[in-house]
Amino acid sequence: MSLAPVEELFTVFNETAMIMQEELACTYLEALAETGENLFQERILQKDELSEVTVKRLKKSYDSLNLHTYSKENIRKSFQLAILKGMNEIVQPNHQMTPDAVGMLVGYLVDKFVKEETFRLLDPAVGTGNLLTTVINHQQKKNVEAIGLDIDDILIKLSYVNANLQQHPIQFFNQDSLEPLFIEEADVVVSDLPVGYYPNDVRASEYEMKADSGHTYAHHLFIEQSMRHVKAGGYLFFIVPNGLFESEQASKLHTYIQENANIQGLLQLPRSLFKNEKAAKSIFILQKKGEGVKPPKQVLLVNLPSLSNTAEMEKILRKIDGWHKENK
Ligand code: SAM
Repeated sequence: MSLAPVEELFTVFNETAMIMQEELACTYLEALAETGENLFQERILQKDELSEVTVKRLKKSYDSLNLHTYSKENIRKSFQLAILKGMNEIVQPNHQMTPDAVGMLVGYLVDKFVKEETFRLLDPAVGTGNLLTTVINHQQKKNVEAIGLDIDDILIKLSYVNANLQQHPIQFFNQDSLEPLFIEEADVVVSDLPVGYYPNDVRASEYEMKADSGHTYAHHLFIEQSMRHVKAGGYLFFIVPNGLFESEQASKLHTYIQENANIQGLLQLPRSLFKNEKAAKSIFILQKKGEGVKPPKQVLLVNLPSLSNTAEMEKILRKIDGWHKENK
C-alpha cells in the first residue's frame, strides 16, 4: 500500500533527522533544520562531518522522493509534524508552534479582509513559520511577499528551511523584535504573540505602553511595534490571551489602541485547542487609523465552536461573511 503524501514526506524528514541527530550529537530540531536544507539544496551539506555509511543512508532516503511533486500545504504539514515531534523534547509554552486550525482561520480572515492582489505580510514572532506559511498558502490568487522575525535562532532556522521547501519568498531576521527594525513597511501583520513580561525595561521605555513600574507585557509591546511598521489602513491579526483586557496594564493598551487603531473583531478560539482555560486565546483584528479609514459600524464578536463541529462552524463563517458585507 502506498503512503499518503504527508506521511511519505514526514517519513523522510523524520528518518534523516534521526540519523543526523545521532551522528552530529545535536537536538532533533537542529537535525531537522539540517536535513530540510539538504533536501532543498539537493546535496548533503554536512558531508565532511558524517561517515560514508551515513551519507549513503541519507542519500538513499532523499532519492526516494521528488520534492517538486508535492503541494506547498503537504510540505508544510509534514514538516510541521516533524517539528511537533521535536518540540516534545522541549517544553517552552511561549515557543509553541501555532496550531493548524488557528493558522487556517487566520489565513481565511486575511484573504477576506485584504483586497490588494500583492501585499507585504509581516510576522514579528515568526517561530517555525507555521502560522506565516499557512496564511500565505490560504491566499487565493494573491502575491505575498513576507518578512519574519524571531529571537530564537533554531526556530528561525526551521522557519527559513520551511519557507525554502515551500518556495515562499520570505525575508528573515534573527533578532529581538522589540529592538529597532530595519524592514520595509508592511501592508498586513499576522502574529501569535509571545505572552509575558519583557525583561528589557530600557528598551520598553521607548514605547507608549511602557508600564509605570516593573516590566511591561511583551505582547503589548509587540502590538505597538507592529503598529509602527504597518501602513495606515493596514490590518493586523494577533493571537492574544483571552484576558488581554483584564490585566493590570490593560488601561494603557486601551488608550493606545483607541488612539491608533480601529478594532475590527475579537474571535474567541475554541477552548478545546488549549491545555487549560488560562492558555486559551483569541484572534484580535485591528486596522491602523489613517486618512479615510473608517471604523466598522459594529465590532465582529464571535465565540468560535469546536472546529470539528461543521454545522456550527458554517453558521459562524456565514456570520463573518454577513459582517464583512455590512462593514467593509
Ligand atoms: N507563529 C509561530 C509558529 O507558527 O511557529 C509561533 C509563535 S510563538 C507563540 C511566539 C514566538 O515569539 C516564539 O517563537 C519566540 O521565540 C518569539 N519571541 C519571544 N520573544 C521575542 C522577542 N523579544 N523578539 C522576537 N521574537 C520573540
